[in-house]
Amino acid sequence: MELLDGTYSIQGLPVLDIARQFGTPLYVYDANKIADQIKSLRNAFSGTDVNIKYAAKALTNLSVLKLIRKNGAGIEVVSLQEAHIALKAGFTPHEIVFTPSGVDFSEIVEGVSMGLGINLDNLSSLQKFGEKYKNTYPCGIRLNPHILAGGNYKISTGHSNSKFGISVFQLPQIREVVDKYGIIIHGLHVHTGSEITETDIFLKMAEILFSVANDFPDLKFIDFGSGFKVAYKEGDMVTNVYDVGLKLTKIFTDFCQHYGRKLELWIEPGKYIVSESGTLLVTANIVKSTPTVTFVGVNSGLNHLIRPMMYDSYHHILNVSNPKGGNKVYTVVGYICETDTFGADRKLNEVREGDVLALKNAGAYGFSMSSNYNSRLRPAEVMVINGEAKLIRERETLDDILKHQVEIDV
Ligand SMILES: *Cc1c(COP(=O)(O)O)cnc(C)c1O
Repeated sequence: MELLDGTYSIQGLPVLDIARQFGTPLYVYDANKIADQIKSLRNAFSGTDVNIKYAAKALTNLSVLKLIRKNGAGIEVVSLQEAHIALKAGFTPHEIVFTPSGVDFSEIVEGVSMGLGINLDNLSSLQKFGEKYKNTYPCGIRLNPHILAGGNYKISTGHSNSKFGISVFQLPQIREVVDKYGIIIHGLHVHTGSEITETDIFLKMAEILFSVANDFPDLKFIDFGSGFKVAYKEGDMVTNVYDVGLKLTKIFTDFCQHYGRKLELWIEPGKYIVSESGTLLVTANIVKSTPTVTFVGVNSGLNHLIRPMMYDSYHHILNVSNPKGGNKVYTVVGYICETDTFGADRKLNEVREGDVLALKNAGAYGFSMSSNYNSRLRPAEVMVINGEAKLIRERETLDDILKHQVEIDV
């Protein structure tokens, strides 16, 4: 979204026109931004044939997935439902890697029957996998490298008390199960958490993986997961993907020489690919001044974008209806009967009731974490592609909420 001649636009289309056409609340995604992000990852890892597995859980809309596939990325899924959506979007089973966390073994069996790549994240599943498939279906292992990293404890997944992965300290147990059944381990995987800004963490993680990799002669890939942070506000610390790409590629190439074979380098970015492409458009319902605070109450809330309340995340807010209005300080809140603050003490161009506000960086973990709390309806989704705004999900109706309820006589 950019400010052109005093008007906020996406690919030259005024945001206000999009809001008028489709109504608010509305998620809008810029297809160009998604393509650019994939391109910039490829450039960052240009020293190797990087295999980008987009982490679908960030944003699972079919049309977005089709766009991502068209731009040459594969996909990482964490549920069978996501896998089915990926298939529907045109990904082949071979392009899909399934990295579930603590699921019943039947889900893994289903994943195998669909032909997906599978990363196992606990010894119990590995044992069952070995018993059932022996050496007939290669799999990957998700390791927990025991590194505490990431923007927020809740999104940090690779530390010693995290539920994710098999501890690197349990390597002997992994070895024992693998040898017992002749399981072919074709990949090693880590995902240390979201929002890692220090290149060194990625390199440290890589060193740990390399030391483990030496024990597994059948590898095809090493999957470094994600953690690529984007800017949420001006001056924000971000992951320097070019620095990570350059240095990681270098030590990876050196490792492959030592290993004796060229392996594939995989990454699984979610946020990096879709965060900045997305904007949540909302309308100011009320402007309410108390003796201490001026609130703007909007027609959305934590039911549509939970990140501010769940992760204390910052989402930049703009008044797209009044870009030339004088600055005032507001606390922007939702309409849910909970404290659902989108942004406290924000300087915005003067907000009048009916103005459209834009919440930025809403592409990742926005719609995909939305709910019907307060029996509110989820927003529509629109993608701006080739200079046109296209509906990619209809706004919900009351019927959607009632559809699965079974009314009994009481
Ligand atoms: C969520 C997740 C990702 C993506 O994380 P981002 O911070 O959105 O890039 C990658 N891999 C796995 C296994 C995940 O669960």
